[in-house]
Amino acid sequence: LTQGLHRSLQRHPGKDALIHLGDGAPRRLTFAELLQSTARQAAALAGHGVGAGDRVALLAPNDDRLVLALLACWWLGAVACPLNIRWSAPELADALSDSAAVLMLADESLTHLVPQLQTQVLTLDAFAAQARGHVGLPDTRTGGDALAAILYTGGTTGRAKGVMLSHANFWAASVARGAELPNSPDSVALLVAPLFHVAGLGRLLGQILVGGTCNTLARFQPDRVLDAIEHHAVSDIVAVPTMLQSLLDAPEFRRERVQGLARVAFGAAPMPPDLLTRALDALPQAEFFQAYGMTETAGAVCMNPPANHRAGARERGLLHSVGRAGLGAEILVTDAEGRELPRGAVGEVAVRGPMVMRGYWRQPEATQSVFRDGWLRTGDAGRMDESGHLFIVDRLKDMIISGGENVYGGEVETVLRGHPAVAQAAVVGVPDARWGESVHAVVVLRTGSAPIEGEVLREWCRQRLAGYKCPRAFSFVPELPLSGAGKVLKSVLRAQVRA
Ligand code: ATP
Ligand code: MG
Repeated sequence: LTQGLHRSLQRHPGKDALIHLGDGAPRRLTFAELLQSTARQAAALAGHGVGAGDRVALLAPNDDRLVLALLACWWLGAVACPLNIRWSAPELADALSDSAAVLMLADESLTHLVPQLQTQVLTLDAFAAQARGHVGLPDTRTGGDALAAILYTGGTTGRAKGVMLSHANFWAASVARGAELPNSPDSVALLVAPLFHVAGLGRLLGQILVGGTCNTLARFQPDRVLDAIEHHAVSDIVAVPTMLQSLLDAPEFRRERVQGLARVAFGAAPMPPDLLTRALDALPQAEFFQAYGMTETAGAVCMNPPANHRAGARERGLLHSVGRAGLGAEILVTDAEGRELPRGAVGEVAVRGPMVMRGYWRQPEATQSVFRDGWLRTGDAGRMDESGHLFIVDRLKDMIISGGENVYGGEVETVLRGHPAVAQAAVVGVPDARWGESVHAVVVLRTGSAPIEGEVLREWCRQRLAGYKCPRAFSFVPELPLSGAGKVLKSVLRAQVRA
């Protein structure tokens, strides 16, 4: 994965590779400096006994130091394990013992969470200071099937699983993405999606491979993001739908501030249609790109290109597709036995290709249960049209079966969000003596809108949806529970609603 560094150094050594937008002045690293610091940090890692194949845990918000540590691991042939900075101390302890990391590098502000274990722990600053005293090591040029990272899944449906991703997996995912939406070497990508998730990490790799610039921001704050776009020449952003929503809702938002954005990539969670329309209207100059994928596929496996977001796409019915199989990927929609379903029928989405993970780290049973005849079962329900465009309708675990009929949350949520008083909505199934399960809607009202009766929303749904899809009960809450990646935690909602 370090190949891109060498190539970019050769092509434009003096160009900015990395700019961290922190509290003080931006910290810049050219490709030449990035390469040199990576080589030194690799030497410092080796000085701590880290060798090829050893795990190095990383715990930090997005910044230049975290990027350097990741690159240094790959330079040395070590396995990077970036951990979720939102995890609690016990969750971190689990991940540390699970990965059996030799060394942990942590941001100063997070070291108090790090459990006292066998693992050596260093702050990123202390580590960088040590590295400055080292002579750089030559690049091991590790690639192919060697493990590059253990990435933990989003933890949306349960406990996060460690996914084993090889250099080849990341490489294949980057190539597939680049084939649909080529990264330009002139682009400046804002890395605000966390680097411990595949969307953020994938974008970093894509930029390094083509020699583009990355700007890092520690956390998603709408005013900081707007400021970065306006004043730091950001051309590309990767966002989950909730990020786009908070950007558009921010009091500081003005169209003029985001004029420089040329490309908006989104994915990782269902995109509400009304939000997509709003975003397209607010950013008429930008190319939109939807990506569908998972940690287990090192990034996107399906991509809906800009052409399907332009005028006419809605009429062709492609605006809300997650796109077609990316370069190297094969996609299948199957029944419960793994047989391919006819086009248009809803079933489980399965994926095959060089981006698919080697397995779950130290979980052979989980690995076995997720692979079938070489296909990775995604756990997502979707349908494919005649032209190979995939539409995700729900997660299988979130699907509601009411009176023997399948109810897909997204469809009901879209109708609810269409009501003028509703800002956000999520539906979950609750046990029901008569229907097996019934639909329960959890609603966040728009700020400033008066309280509203559930009956009004039920009537709104009745006019737009079949009876079995209409929510039978409503809860009104100030906000929906979100995961660190900005996804609605339906398991938490189910527990609350059923309690
Ligand atoms: P966990 O597996 O721990 O429950 P997670 O599945 O949220 O968490 P990720 O690997 O980060 O962890 O997310 C992959 C999932 O995100 C996919 O399986 C799918 O459900 C959802 N997803 C990704 N992209 C899209 C998209 N464009 N549209 C709808 N859903 C998406
Ligand atoms: Mg998952």
